[in-house]
Amino acid sequence: MGAFNALVLKQTCPACGRKIELRIQFKYGDTWQYEYSPGDLVRWGGDDIGRPGRKHVVVDGAAEDCPACDHELPDYEVHVENDRIARAVPQAGRYDFAAGGGTFIVLDEYRGWSRMRSRSDRDLTRGPIPSPTTGARVTTGRPVR
Ligand SMILES: [Zn+2]
Repeated sequence: MGAFNALVLKQTCPACGRKIELRIQFKYGDTWQYEYSPGDLVRWGGDDIGRPGRKHVVVDGAAEDCPACDHELPDYEVHVENDRIARAVPQAGRYDFAAGGGTFIVLDEYRGWSRMRSRSDRDLTRGPIPSPTTGARVTTGRPVR
């Protein structure tokens, strides 16, 4: 209980401007305090959260405070594509993790997605990440033109 993994990013703190190693805690894959860098494969085969082999999963990531100045940093979306940590971006309310059942959302199964898929298949194949504006539409279920 309480185990998590951490994605370590080189970042510049927005408050103190120092270059820091930002640690983003997340729960996906085998959760055993593993430290990952972007591009790493997620480990499986222990205390697994989620299932391997998903195309695209977005995981709720909790950033630790800045190690230099203790500034509180925003939460992150950790994107896992084909079990590889692709990238992490600050959360902008695009995904409702609580409604998705907890710590991650499988985008292949995301309901807002299938609604969008039927209307604009081409946008989906080109880039699975919605822009902040289209993401808001997905979340509210408003039709996408
Ligand atoms: Zn700082």
